Amino acid sequence: MFAEIIINSNAKALNKIFDYIVPNDMINIIRIGARVFVPFGKGEKIEDGFVINLKENSEYANKEIVRIENENSISEDNIILAKLMARKYFCNISDCIRLMLPPGTASKEISNRIKEKTGNFVYLKRDIDEINMLIDEEKIKSEKHIRVLKFLQQNDGIYISDLKLLTDVSKGILKTLEKNGHIEIIEKQIERNPFINKNIIPDKPKKLNSEQKKCFNGISSNIENNEFSKNLIYGITGSGKTEIYLQLIQKVLEKGKDAIVLVPEISLTPQMVDRFLARFGNNIAVLHSKLSVGERYDEWQKIAKGEAKIVIGARSAIFAPVKKLGIIIIDEEHDMSYKSDSTPRYNAKDLAKYIAEKNSCPLVLGSATPDIITMYQAKNNDINLYELTKRANNANLPNIEIVDMRNELAIGNKSMLSLKLQNEIEKNLKNKKQTILFLNRRGYSTFIMCRECGFVAKCKNCNISLTYHMSENKLKCHYCGFECGIIKECPKCKSKKIKYFGTGTQKLEDEVNKLFPNSSTIRMDIDTVSKKNSHEEILNKFKNENIDILIGTQMVVKGHHFPNVTLVGVITADSSLNLEDYRAVEKTFQTLVQVAGRAGREKNTGNVIIQTYNPDHYAIIDSQKQDYSLFYNQEIELRKVLNYPPFCDIIMIRFSGNNLNQIQNLANFVYKKINEVKKDNMLIYKPVPSPIDKIKNKYRWRIIIKCKLTSNVLDIIQYGIQDEKISKIKDASIIVDVNPNVMN
Ligand code: ADP
Ligand code: ZN
Ligand code: ZN
Repeated sequence: MFAEIIINSNAKALNKIFDYIVPNDMINIIRIGARVFVPFGKGEKIEDGFVINLKENSEYANKEIVRIENENSISEDNIILAKLMARKYFCNISDCIRLMLPPGTASKEISNRIKEKTGNFVYLKRDIDEINMLIDEEKIKSEKHIRVLKFLQQNDGIYISDLKLLTDVSKGILKTLEKNGHIEIIEKQIERNPFINKNIIPDKPKKLNSEQKKCFNGISSNIENNEFSKNLIYGITGSGKTEIYLQLIQKVLEKGKDAIVLVPEISLTPQMVDRFLARFGNNIAVLHSKLSVGERYDEWQKIAKGEAKIVIGARSAIFAPVKKLGIIIIDEEHDMSYKSDSTPRYNAKDLAKYIAEKNSCPLVLGSATPDIITMYQAKNNDINLYELTKRANNANLPNIEIVDMRNELAIGNKSMLSLKLQNEIEKNLKNKKQTILFLNRRGYSTFIMCRECGFVAKCKNCNISLTYHMSENKLKCHYCGFECGIIKECPKCKSKKIKYFGTGTQKLEDEVNKLFPNSSTIRMDIDTVSKKNSHEEILNKFKNENIDILIGTQMVVKGHHFPNVTLVGVITADSSLNLEDYRAVEKTFQTLVQVAGRAGREKNTGNVIIQTYNPDHYAIIDSQKQDYSLFYNQEIELRKVLNYPPFCDIIMIRFSGNNLNQIQNLANFVYKKINEVKKDNMLIYKPVPSPIDKIKNKYRWRIIIKCKLTSNVLDIIQYGIQDEKISKIKDASIIVDVNPNVMN
């Protein structure tokens, strides 16, 4: 017997099938999906790989498999899925398989040490990009230091004992790295059952109202009859979507099946999990990135062994090893985090549909502001639409006011806060109510320019202006992590007239502290959220210590419920409007509706103030009216005219590398090849530099193609990017991203 094997590697050249001989003593245990160890390459080094097919004949096989490890393997169904994904998302089959393995077992060495129960944890303290930068700039030079940091980039949150063993470094080295601020070592008692000490009050199903009932009955009959269906529950926050999810899951459990619930990473809060615990007890496994690798491994095993029947997790939980899938629920289905921005660039919603269909069970999408594409499908009867129009707990919707910031300038108010917003904050402080201020840019000033000659301070590695961070008194690049001291004199004309423009959350906090010196404030953005000071802890502090004003980026928008917040201020609603991403307008609308939803969720009616320079833009007006269907109608018309999704797919092919000439030639070469074989319905734009044409010293060019991504088109693009000439170019990369979240 022979096995077709894929080597566990992300090297493009290894995305190939290799034939191996199955020795006689393995014939009875080998199966498709099994993890195997084989001699590979010139030195016959033992590498790991996966069986993707078994057969009786082979022309090429001349070496034997040396070992099989069935424990950290995947199912045959998942092999089929991995092959499909590799084709659809233009990546290696093994890139996809790694997503499906038990957490922490992707690299072969770590798999047998994952089960340890106690020890200290090591986390990266800096961004991955920032570390790469420091290494590139030789600020980190020691080979051992680099080895540890590179390892942590792949395996963040690892036990110190594992790390020492796997990287062969001493405790002293780790201490130095900690002292230099690269890593943090956290002593924590490892709680392998995250729920063990929770005191949850059991909760009973609520009597559904008529809208909820209609939805429940529809999907419930699909569960009963084991049939696939696609459903959208479109209902404002608080309209009882989660209650429906809970009752549907109850039904699934009664049929002896399992449920997968996907939520955006950031809303995977304890409060959210508590609701499931209250209804279902410990029958739950949670998967998200804040758990240690070991904890994730345990949660994964609970599912694989059938000890947990319900999985709640972020995007990659779609690959959880449930036994008999009975339903997939995707909450906040419009959220961008369901689409991956790194290889494999998959969309969990597409995969969910495939998996639900394969398992003959319903797929349920829920949102207050559905993805335009999902709603379009619902309107065209591709998806069953269930609408919830009332708030289940009768809370009031907030009052929303728009402030035209151009008028503020006209009356001489140069503050980031309009007079209206200042007044409302003042009132709120008097009434001892809390306020949230939202601004989607971090740092202090986002733009540093010489007023004499127009010089703009840019990152030396990226074509991006630097942001001033006051707390550290440094200029930082938000793309690559490069940082340098502040500029007092123009490097070009030596003028001292350096001006700081643009605003970020740090400056906002500064200004609020000056305007309201007696108020307490707390800031939440990537700079204040670290592993130690979690998102969760900042929000709890805000809530429990009754801090007056929370200032934050996107992070403040989701999840939490703050009974005492009655005012929400949006500092500039426009910041994402002018991006060229096709979802930018939609994202602005969704964010504004969600931010507004933070105000006055209980007895108190909330006030929301939206500051903008584009008060006539439909995304702003419609969010003031909190009118999704009005927004949908305008947006879908525009997408039709511009030929954007759902009317076609946008395929971005990006070329990047150190040599500008080479990148340009490569892009032109691929463009020519695709044009040779293109079909009439493909609109192919000429290669151009990306909007950000240099990141981390790598030049970036791109080709955009508009058309429906059919099987035919996949072949054409594959033909375009796969060429012997291309594979010879060493330091250039090509990625293909379909309907990307960001087009930069
Ligand atoms: P959503 O998920 O749409 O935001 P939830 O399911 O969280 O809405 O419901 C909001 C609140 O209303 C919750 O406290 C929930 O327990 C309650 N609720 C939901 N449905 C009902 C119902 N049929 N009867 C009474 N309370 C309900
Ligand atoms: Zn100058
Ligand atoms: Zn940079």
